Amino acid sequence: MIPLSEAQAFVLAACPPPLPRPVPIDEALGLVVAAPIVATEPVPPFVNSSRDGYALRSADTLEAGDAPGPVRLQVVALIMAGSSFDGMIGPGQAARIMTGAPMPAGADAVCMLEDCAVEADGEVVAIDHPVTEGEAVRGIGEDVVVGDVIADPGTVLTPGHVGVLANQGMADVIVHPRLRIGVLSTGDELASGPGPLGPGQIRDANRHTLLALVRRQGWAAVDLGKVGDDEEALSAVLDWAAVSCDAVITSGGVSVGDHDIVKVVLEKRSAGTMRWMQVAIRPAKPFAFGTLDGSGTPVFGLPGNPVSAMVSFELLVRPAVRQMGGHRQLERIVVPAVAVADLPRRPDGKTHFVRARVSLDADGGWSVRPMVGQDSHQLRAMADANGLAVLPDGEGVTAGGRVDVLLIDPEQLSADPVEPTDRRW
Ligand code: AMP
Ligand code: MG
Repeated sequence: MIPLSEAQAFVLAACPPPLPRPVPIDEALGLVVAAPIVATEPVPPFVNSSRDGYALRSADTLEAGDAPGPVRLQVVALIMAGSSFDGMIGPGQAARIMTGAPMPAGADAVCMLEDCAVEADGEVVAIDHPVTEGEAVRGIGEDVVVGDVIADPGTVLTPGHVGVLANQGMADVIVHPRLRIGVLSTGDELASGPGPLGPGQIRDANRHTLLALVRRQGWAAVDLGKVGDDEEALSAVLDWAAVSCDAVITSGGVSVGDHDIVKVVLEKRSAGTMRWMQVAIRPAKPFAFGTLDGSGTPVFGLPGNPVSAMVSFELLVRPAVRQMGGHRQLERIVVPAVAVADLPRRPDGKTHFVRARVSLDADGGWSVRPMVGQDSHQLRAMADANGLAVLPDGEGVTAGGRVDVLLIDPEQLSADPVEPTDRRW
């Protein structure tokens, strides 16, 4: 057996990021910026009103409040967002103005609608308090000035960034491109489709699980189908994968006892780069990795047991493909949690990854409870898990003890206490 860190290092060394290229901003969400993005336009592009109200000269309102009555200004224009006013607001004058409309020359403040009284059918506005210079006015470049670095290399583009780029009039952004990840199931026992199972057949869960995992990472999923024990068929799929995918994930056929064609074909097609590993983890001990001859496409050989395939994906595929995508943060976030139930285990030289439910307590601490059903074929427990509790070799942890938990599904975090309300845990 080799330590997980050794397997990870072996994989990472063979997964460099492909060359950056321009990608349309609407397709760039979640991609990693490869070159500094520098602003060429100020935002806002012109001085404008932040309120619906009256643009005026603040000096005209200085006396308001002191004098017996309100200050009355003549309304000389109506300025809508998207329009402009060529004239000038003179002393004693104001313009009705909408949010986002350009400030007219002469005016230096806006009195919001709620703070003034409209008189004479809208021809006069009465203001009973001083409006300070610059009030409700947005200046040029208050958001972004020309020369600002909007995003450094390594930035993961958020919806907000996409808008900031749109504000610059940019159509494309130089990023590490979205990776196309092929998923392939192997094994003669696999049935496809909803029909009845033949003798000894099982349904192909892994391909669908792995395609879903790939999609959730924001990568483009390429369904390479399933292949049985047919060397030519598998070879043909790899030919296609080499030209259509940036990396390939297979499941099944990587165990010690396996003599199936996956091993034979991958060995042949990888020019000796394929390494068949026994990683000191549970589940997901067997793992294979190499690169396709010619294209250099990384191939991840995951074990067939569905939970093992998922854990293998988390620990060995995800970090490597994130590196290919230019990410700096490769690992999942690990939180220190308090076990609310025993997490027993026996020493066996492996690190155990226990499917678990983790939640954030009201006091800001983390709690974790293991799922019921920890065998590597028990996918149901994995489906309900949002964390993997990391149990180093030894005797495990008793209730109340501390345990590190990998947040494998941050979207499924809740602040609800991890009570055993579900029959599965
Ligand atoms: P293997 O790694 O090929 O020895 O398979 C280990 C276990 O996983 C066996 O019980 C297989 O039937 C099962 N298995 C293999 N591939 C899949 C798959 N695509 N979906 C569900 N189970 C699978
Ligand atoms: Mg098999």
